[in-house]
Amino acid sequence: MGGSGNNGESCIIEGNDGSVGIIDCFIDRVQTIPIPQNYIESRGIEKSKVKFILISHLHGDHCDGVVDLIKEYPDSELYISEINLLNSFRNIIRFKHPNLKFSGWTKGQKLFKYLSQNPDKKIQGLKEGDSINFTNDTKLNVLYPSEECITYFDKLYISQLDDLTKRVSSIESNEDLNPPKIIDLKLSKNFNDHSVVLEALGKEFNSIYLADLEFQEERGLGYVLTKAARAHKKYNIFKVPHHGSKTSFNKELWESVLAAPFDEQFLKLSCWKKGQKFLPEKDIVDKMLLTTPNIYCTGTPEKKTPKIDNSTRKYYTNKHLKFKISSHKYGRISINRNIPSNQLELDIYSPAVHVSELFNNHTSTDD
Ligand SMILES: [Zn+2]
Repeated sequence: MGGSGNNGESCIIEGNDGSVGIIDCFIDRVQTIPIPQNYIESRGIEKSKVKFILISHLHGDHCDGVVDLIKEYPDSELYISEINLLNSFRNIIRFKHPNLKFSGWTKGQKLFKYLSQNPDKKIQGLKEGDSINFTNDTKLNVLYPSEECITYFDKLYISQLDDLTKRVSSIESNEDLNPPKIIDLKLSKNFNDHSVVLEALGKEFNSIYLADLEFQEERGLGYVLTKAARAHKKYNIFKVPHHGSKTSFNKELWESVLAAPFDEQFLKLSCWKKGQKFLPEKDIVDKMLLTTPNIYCTGTPEKKTPKIDNSTRKYYTNKHLKFKISSHKYGRISINRNIPSNQLELDIYSPAVHVSELFNNHTSTDD
C-alpha cells in the first residue's frame, strides 16, 4: 500500500487463518489514521488478528503512525531492526545537549519516546536467521541485517558517540571559540542500509519484502539477493526495494530470485518524492520492465492539477507528473492465489497502477 500524494509504504501479510502482519506504516494526511489500520478496519478484520507490527527502518515514510498502531493493537508483537536496539545506537539517541539535533527521522524518534515512557511495551530486534511466528502455513524468515552488518554499524555508532562526546566537551570547556550552533550526526542516512528484510514462504507462493535496502560495497541488497539466489530461493511477490532507485536496481540479481513464468510473479513498488526528487526514476523503470512486465505501484498520475480546496488539501508536481492528495485513501495492490485456477491473482485498487502508467500519462506542467 502507498499513498499517491503522501508517499509512504505499508505491506500486509494475511495468513489463511485470517492472521495479519503489518510491515511498515505511514499516515495519510487526509485520513489521519495509519494506513494499515485503515485497511484492516475497511476489511472488517478483528483487532486480535493483528499478530505483529514490523518497522523495517525508522524513516517517516515507513514508520509514521507506528505509535498509533501499537495503541490500536496492543497485543501484537513489535519488531524493529536489531541495530536500532544496540546500546551503541541507543546511547547516541539518549544523549542530550542543547546544540544536538537529529534531523531526518522525527517520526522514528516518536517511537523511542513512546518506548521510554512505556517500559512495559516489549520491542524485539530482528536480524538474519530469526523467524517470526505467524501461521502454520506461512514461514516468516528474517534475511537482514546480517551479523556482519550489525558489527559494522555497532562500530560506526560507537565511533559517532565518541566523536559527539568530544565535540560537546570542547564546546563545554570553551576550547572551541567558534562552537557549531547545531550538531547534527545525520544518523538517519544509515537507516536504509540496515533495514529489516523478511521473506514469507507459504504453501501457495513465496514473497520477499526488501524495505529500503540499497546496494553497498559489501553488504545490503547484494548480500541478501546473492545469498537467496545461491539457496535457489524463488519469489512470486517481490516488494521492490527503495522505491525503485538506481541504488536498488540490479537486473541480474533481481532475475536470479524471481520465479518464472511471468504470470506467477508480481513486483510491488511505492513511489517516493521529496522536493524535486522522485522515485522511481524513468530510466530505471524502463530497465525494470526488461526484467518483468508485472510491476505495479501505488500512486496515480493526474492529467490535470486539481484545484486546491477542502477535499484536495495539498498537491505537488514534478517535471513528469502531477500527483494529488485528494479524497482517496491510498493505492492498494493485493495478491492472492486463486485456488480453483491455481493462478496468482492481482487486485489493484485505485490509485495503484501499472508502473508504465506513471510516466506515460504525464501532461504538460503549465496547467
Ligand atoms: Zn522509503
